[in-house]
Amino acid sequence: MKTPFVTKEKIQEITKEIPTPFNIYDEKGIRENARKVNQAFSWNKGFKEYFAVKANPNPFILKILQEEGCGVDCASYVELALSNELGFKGDDIMFSSNDTPASEFKYADELGVIVNLDDFTHIDFYEKVVGHFPKKMCCRFNPGGVYELSNGIMDNPGDSKYGMTKEQIFEAYQILRDKGVEEFGIHAFLVSNTVTNEYYPTLAKTLFELIVELKEKTGISISFVNLSGGVGIAYRPDQTPNDILAIGEGVHKAFDEILVPAGLGDVAILTEMGRFMMGPYGGLVTTAIHEKHIYKEYIGVDACAVDLMRPAVYGSYHHVTVLGKENAPEDHVYDVTGSLCENCDKFAVDRQLPKIDKGDILFIHDTGAHGYSMGYNYNGKLKSAEVLLKEDGSFKMIRRPETIKDYLATFDGLGIVDNLL
Ligand SMILES: *Cc1c(COP(=O)(O)O)cnc(C)c1O
Repeated sequence: MKTPFVTKEKIQEITKEIPTPFNIYDEKGIRENARKVNQAFSWNKGFKEYFAVKANPNPFILKILQEEGCGVDCASYVELALSNELGFKGDDIMFSSNDTPASEFKYADELGVIVNLDDFTHIDFYEKVVGHFPKKMCCRFNPGGVYELSNGIMDNPGDSKYGMTKEQIFEAYQILRDKGVEEFGIHAFLVSNTVTNEYYPTLAKTLFELIVELKEKTGISISFVNLSGGVGIAYRPDQTPNDILAIGEGVHKAFDEILVPAGLGDVAILTEMGRFMMGPYGGLVTTAIHEKHIYKEYIGVDACAVDLMRPAVYGSYHHVTVLGKENAPEDHVYDVTGSLCENCDKFAVDRQLPKIDKGDILFIHDTGAHGYSMGYNYNGKLKSAEVLLKEDGSFKMIRRPETIKDYLATFDGLGIVDNLL
């Protein structure tokens, strides 16, 4: 059974001030989890988690993670600028972009962040647009083929647009060394949302073996290994959540077996988790506003795919709790829908739920990562508010809902905003 991190009474208190729909985040959960991540890798002197900003770019959230010792992983101008403004500096920022515009490499250089090159041709490109190389650089690796873990979870790196082949990355490090780069990192993101303690240790082994070979063949020592994201969460109630302490130990074991004997015991481990850092600590709070009976039973809610796209885009499962009906029999089958003119705008399909009445408040679980941040304005739907449930139990709106003025803000000089307001 999945339980919301917030009570019905608290939600009722909040909805007196902030109408549904809104995303709510659990500060206590975020902090406790971040501490556990740091504890899991405390055996490694240089460990740092670079939170993937795209998962949740709310500045209040980024500040909490910063206080817990995290850096940030950025992939765009706005993410870099926002992070810089929040006080993330230099080595606190990893720029893991791809298909990167010239202006963004220039900006990353100005800020002095760690640049993670996605492609071999970016060496030339970077030199042309920036004019010099930093002292420290990272390269992104793609082993190709299919990457499979023993429980069957796999992905298809051979089909993904990211990273360099083995031959390219070996050559890249040598070219960068000749151009004056002194410190090197390696990065790979091979499987997404892995619900197994095995992913990071397996990936670590792949990368550790590669850097030992690199050292033997070229004399180049890698100083940091970035395991990137991909550590998943238990979206479904029957899944066993990852145990980050076990994951940290698994990486530790591979480190001791492969890197230490090769004289690479000083290598720092970095991560760029997004989902694992925030996913479970966010929920979408929405009210049932319609009941429809045709060939199926529908519950229409006041949120829509604009607030949470994952089910519409990937058919993802997000657990739904009807607040106050946690113990009621789940004897109804519903599609829970939003209001977009798109049939994929459904938060749940054929879901076994208790009887839902109009006015019931639904808590849609695990929206803290790749939730609000993925949202868009389709159908002219405005984005809703974000609320932080603080450690002391009080709450704060950390992003107001959009207004039509925000929606029209880019139509400069049309006068339409003034006419509408
Ligand atoms: C999206 C992304 C992440 C975070 O992925 P999660 O699945 O949220 O952990 C990390 N690094 C890079 C380069 C990414 O693109």
